[in-house]
Amino acid sequence: MNPNAEEAQIRRVEARIQELGYKAQRIPGKIRSVIGVTGNQDAEDRIYLESLPAVDRVIAVTQPYRLAGRDSHPENTVIDLGSVKIGDGNVTMIAGPCAVEGEDQTLRIADQVLERGAQILRGGAYKPRTSPYSFQGLGEKGLEVLAKARERTGLPFVTEVLDHQTAYLISQYADMLQVGTRNMQNFILLKEVGKLGKPVLLKRGMSATLEETLMSAEYLMSHGSQEVVICERGVRTFSSHARNTLDISVIPALKKVSHLPIIVDPSHSSGHRYSVIPHSLAGIGAGADGLIVDVHDKPEEALCDGAQALLPDQFADLMYIGRAVCRALGKTFGTEKTI
Ligand code: PEP
Ligand code: MN
Repeated sequence: MNPNAEEAQIRRVEARIQELGYKAQRIPGKIRSVIGVTGNQDAEDRIYLESLPAVDRVIAVTQPYRLAGRDSHPENTVIDLGSVKIGDGNVTMIAGPCAVEGEDQTLRIADQVLERGAQILRGGAYKPRTSPYSFQGLGEKGLEVLAKARERTGLPFVTEVLDHQTAYLISQYADMLQVGTRNMQNFILLKEVGKLGKPVLLKRGMSATLEETLMSAEYLMSHGSQEVVICERGVRTFSSHARNTLDISVIPALKKVSHLPIIVDPSHSSGHRYSVIPHSLAGIGAGADGLIVDVHDKPEEALCDGAQALLPDQFADLMYIGRAVCRALGKTFGTEKTI
């Protein structure tokens, strides 16, 4: 309450809290009175209280993301994709082409990342492109190719869902569904993807706060998805030397308030091949539970994001250096395969 709030005004606020069905508890102070509210479901009712006379401010003390927050779920969540886990204390490696361009290309790259220690294959069959004239993905044909790659390599795969009309179809093929940065706040899509009950890789919106990101995870979780992984892929800032600014600081901040695993996408954050390894190591150092990395053996021919794709040899270098860093941290990195 304002320092000069009158008794009648304080009583009015207490009465309103009770009308809303909650409990009001007054904490008188030397300068001002504070009224504690308990029993409310979320912080939405603050608008009813904020507009009452002599109310100074309404402060939420409970996390608005009840399912994604640590308050209600203190232990870390571990995502289980059968043979592979995300969030078990080690660093999981997801790698593959940005887009599925054809069967040969994807099978070749799947073999190469498997040989070098990847545990999960990535590849977009439906691509969200800035230009309508750019390659939009192979659609269901791309899903068939990814399924073939899984059969051949044993690698489970993650692929992006662009809209709720194709979400079910994609879930019939994929081991994990990706919601991209441009769709992080597409709430209709989040609800539909949540209902499918599959593990979800939720990429942080390019200008989303940590709280907004976790509220999007909350959409997925409140509709049925228990296994959500957050992905930091860089945010928009004034810096132009990289495609995005990798926000390393979000990793410990997220881990403090949420039990969900967080991985880093150093390819979409850097946008340039030369800085993918440094971004990866920064992510590992900051405590990420995994990486998702673009790899292409003919990046000059890639139909999407060739400039940020690591060549297979560079991917092997990343696995080698990353493994040394992980060893120092008492963690494993990818599989123990080396080439
Ligand atoms: C991707 O991973 O292929 C992608 C489109 O990423 P983002 O949504 O982070 O831009
Ligand atoms: Mn891409």
